[in-house]
Amino acid sequence: MAMASRGRVGDGEPWMEQRSVDQDLMTRVASVGQSASVASRPSARNAVEVKGVTIRYKGVTALNNVDIAIREGEFFSLLGPSGCGKTTTLSTVGGFVQPDSGDVLIEGRSVLGTPPYRRPVNTVFQSYALFPHMTVAENIGFGPRMAGLARDEIARRVEDALQLVSLSGMGERRPSQLSGGQQQRVALARALVNRPAVLLLDEPLGALDLKLRKQMQLELSRIQREVGITFVYVTHDQEEAMTMSDRIAVMSHGSVVQIGTPQEIYERPATLFVADFIGLSNILTGEVLDRVGSVRLAGGTVVRVPAGAAARVGSKVAVVVRPDHMSLSPSPPGGDANAIRGRITKLSFLGTHLQISVAIEAHVEIVVSRPLAPEEQGDPLPERGDQVLVTWAVARSFCFPDTERLQSEAGTPAA
Ligand code: ADP
Ligand code: MG
Repeated sequence: MAMASRGRVGDGEPWMEQRSVDQDLMTRVASVGQSASVASRPSARNAVEVKGVTIRYKGVTALNNVDIAIREGEFFSLLGPSGCGKTTTLSTVGGFVQPDSGDVLIEGRSVLGTPPYRRPVNTVFQSYALFPHMTVAENIGFGPRMAGLARDEIARRVEDALQLVSLSGMGERRPSQLSGGQQQRVALARALVNRPAVLLLDEPLGALDLKLRKQMQLELSRIQREVGITFVYVTHDQEEAMTMSDRIAVMSHGSVVQIGTPQEIYERPATLFVADFIGLSNILTGEVLDRVGSVRLAGGTVVRVPAGAAARVGSKVAVVVRPDHMSLSPSPPGGDANAIRGRITKLSFLGTHLQISVAIEAHVEIVVSRPLAPEEQGDPLPERGDQVLVTWAVARSFCFPDTERLQSEAGTPAA
């Protein structure tokens, strides 16, 4: 979700869309992180290691030397646009796809020679794949029955699993008598009842409508903390990954671009692709003027980035600044900061936040976001047409080489 100098802001990017991405995102990330801290915490041991895995199909490198280490008890997401290799990565762990090179370890042991059904993992797919002729309880009890557990043990586990996914009392129904969300819960219970070391989830909420999706996101987070099983979660939805995960691997074109906590990825995106894909970014393109980090934008405005962050003098770069790292000031601030004059073109009240669009030069608009504290609601707010000074700490500017990569990488619409 980018905007600004690439013309995306004025280009019909709906405000509601922007709102759904950034407004309160970091607040929610923080609150999810807090609630996680009171329950089970990921341990230092690795549950899953994908080591240098490469997979080629005819003419396509689906995975290119992928390295991922997932800790025990972690809620870990694979995030990226459609076709970037998320499902293939998950399938190498599940055992449905064999790497051309590299290794896959589960609980410290290589599983390359181990068939899927003997690996200590279970998979939840977007298509729930429930047995239609069996009751909910029979569906959930299927795995334990195949494992040869005693009847009363199966019954007890099924009851626990039903309770875990909030479906107590529905064991005698058939899948066709359940809503989509309830069917998804059954699919989850059917996987968890086997007590796998690792649960693999491939876009499990993809078939649900937005409201149900949000609800199930919370449910999934709760369930994961409750059972403490390692979750490896595939999604193309950055907000979903950001709000649910302990850590995220951002993927693009078969490679892992960055691994980190949601906050690390938001605060310090490793590439322009990550900055653009996750959260809202102002992306200002320009040319490096000198070695101390001055960048001239197309219209002549000069901004500064941390010395050493910019590429060689004369090269084209993209300067990325998060809207919540910018503010409006009456006068130039002290310290090492950028200050650019502009004119307010739009104000949007987004619940707890105010988003202010400011034109800084022809065809370049910056979005500044700031929280609206209750005690300042009576204060005079900026207005459309106001001349303002947009400021931000130089340290808050990221600088990336501006290749056409961004367009090509982000070009695949998420399916
Ligand atoms: P994602 O889950 O991120 O959408 P996938 O892992 O399904 O992506 O696919 C990664 C790439 O590998 C895509 O280009 C896809 O077309 C290709 N691919 C996946 N599976 C196969 C296959 N069985 N045969 C040929 N190409 C495949
Ligand atoms: Mg997929």
